[in-house]
Amino acid sequence: MNPAAVLPDLARLCLHTITTKPWSIETAAAKYSSAGVRGITVWRDALSGRDPAITGQLLRDHGLTIVSLCRGGFFPAPTAEGRAKARDDNRRAIAEAHALGAPLIVLVCGAVPGVPLPESRRQILAGIAALLPDCQAAGVRLAIEPLHPMYADSRSAVNTLGQANDMVEQLQSPHVGVAVDVYHLWWDPALEQEIARCGRLKALLAFHLCDWRTPTTDLLNDRGLMGEGCIPLRQIRAWVEAAGFRGFNEVEVFSTRHWATDQDDYLGTIIQAYREHA
Ligand code: ZN
Repeated sequence: MNPAAVLPDLARLCLHTITTKPWSIETAAAKYSSAGVRGITVWRDALSGRDPAITGQLLRDHGLTIVSLCRGGFFPAPTAEGRAKARDDNRRAIAEAHALGAPLIVLVCGAVPGVPLPESRRQILAGIAALLPDCQAAGVRLAIEPLHPMYADSRSAVNTLGQANDMVEQLQSPHVGVAVDVYHLWWDPALEQEIARCGRLKALLAFHLCDWRTPTTDLLNDRGLMGEGCIPLRQIRAWVEAAGFRGFNEVEVFSTRHWATDQDDYLGTIIQAYREHA
């Protein structure tokens, strides 16, 4: 086989602003653009103190496609008041996405220690359903991102792609789909079949890349760059593409280790790692 045939296309490379956290969004936009990166996913903290409409225009002026806004979610709460507050925050996220020009919001769906997981899942479904009219009005879609089970206590009660696909089927909305993040899902023996099912549901909206380091020294901020870990990235990308996905390959790396390095050098390393391993 021609090795070039399996190389990822740089035109489909997207970076999450959190990956180069030390940079402001203005710096990130200029640096990504001149390095040939074509997509950007914006973390809400990067918009702090800014008008999202102006920032959105700035990103487009740099030739960047805004892939998504990260993140909404965190629906479950022990009280009705807490759940209403969560919905309000998600409505603000939808308004921000609309102003920014982001077509998609990634959902970290939430969990609360002490709230049983099945109850959290019911609250997540209800929370998403309540937002659908806002999504329709704003032209913004929501992507349920299943999280690794190590986060089932406090970050997400949705821990497998199968559960996310089930929710998509129950919600039956063109405004709801799934984000597949290799970090959260690589271990799942049902991954190939659930990616195929997600494709049949026309629900595969985003694909997030990084790697799993051994040992992982921090549950949140020790993700690896592609090639630094044990995730079969090309295998998973092949499944995602076989399911019909033609969107951006999004590099999302939370790494205290990498954030401490020179970010210009790091950007070059990211692009090289993407070419060699993704
Ligand atoms: Zn992700």
